[in-house]
Amino acid sequence: MEILVTGGAGYIGSHMVAMLDELRHQVVTLDDLSCGYRDAVLAGDFVNGSLHDKDTLNNVFSQHRFDAVIHFAGLIAVGESVRDPAKYYQNNLGGTLNLLDAMRTHEVNQLVFSSTAAIFGIPEYIPIDEKHPQAPINPYGMTKWMTEKILRDYDAAYGLRSVALRYFNAAGAAPDASLGERHNPETHLIPLALRAAIGDLPALTVFGTDYDTPDGTCIRDYIHIQDLCTAHVLALKHLGSGGESRAYNLGNGQGYSVKEVIDVASRVCGISVPVKFGPRREGDPPRLVADASKIRQDWGWKPRYSELKEIVEHAWAWEVKCHK
Ligand code: UDP
Repeated sequence: MEILVTGGAGYIGSHMVAMLDELRHQVVTLDDLSCGYRDAVLAGDFVNGSLHDKDTLNNVFSQHRFDAVIHFAGLIAVGESVRDPAKYYQNNLGGTLNLLDAMRTHEVNQLVFSSTAAIFGIPEYIPIDEKHPQAPINPYGMTKWMTEKILRDYDAAYGLRSVALRYFNAAGAAPDASLGERHNPETHLIPLALRAAIGDLPALTVFGTDYDTPDGTCIRDYIHIQDLCTAHVLALKHLGSGGESRAYNLGNGQGYSVKEVIDVASRVCGISVPVKFGPRREGDPPRLVADASKIRQDWGWKPRYSELKEIVEHAWAWEVKCHK
């Protein structure tokens, strides 16, 4: 297959491009490098361009005959989305609408979309299945939720079929440390804990110790980046064989508190992660754990790296490599 990956220079996108290449697909990455890195695109063609540039989009679609698009390009910082919602709506919704226009014009009608657990807002029950009410509490989650709605309408009206995958906490790195997490600024727990262990950060700040959880810190469901990418490959197969539009929750189904993650990180590094305790971070729900039984049943998806230790080991190998 020939596949367009938007945001292919970012954390998840770059792992996806590498996996598609291994599976012998033709890949084109479209990325404006506002958050991604050119050297993270290890395979296929690369186009430096934005979803806001309709000419670039049209050129890319004219030069290739894509079977499907995997759409990662988008802004992901919850706090920033609260401070500057216009940026998020313009970028995440505006950019997506331009992409969908180009797909319609060039008759590409299969899309895999990066959605998020943030569409659920504060969970009413755990683990969160697909039937859980959707009530995003920040503009970032809102843009993803609205895109899911738009995709439903585009399917009904134009036959553009899609799979939305609602990620819980993507984590880890390529097992051979060829790729890993590189956000700027980094805000995610695992890379920050490892950087504190390696000495690049004086200490990791734990955001809140007074949550209604067994140890008072937030609980999250960490899913290995490779397992996340595997779900996209299954989504491509589903759409490629004429499957209907779907949305799935994607996580390991196991929750770990911030303190548990720090303990695992300390053991993996062999260095006690230096920590300090701070106030809660705005907009953090106390617990987010996925019920991913639907994608397991429908497509036989199963995480290969379900142990947090393995996820952190891969992330650690990547951090050590970057530190050298
Ligand atoms: N967290 C923390 N200190 C940090 C970064 C994150 O205590 O420096 C906590 C955060 O409050 C959340 C969990 O770690 O409960 C995971 O946060 P992350 O930003 O990695 O992912 P999110 O759940 O926001 O998508």
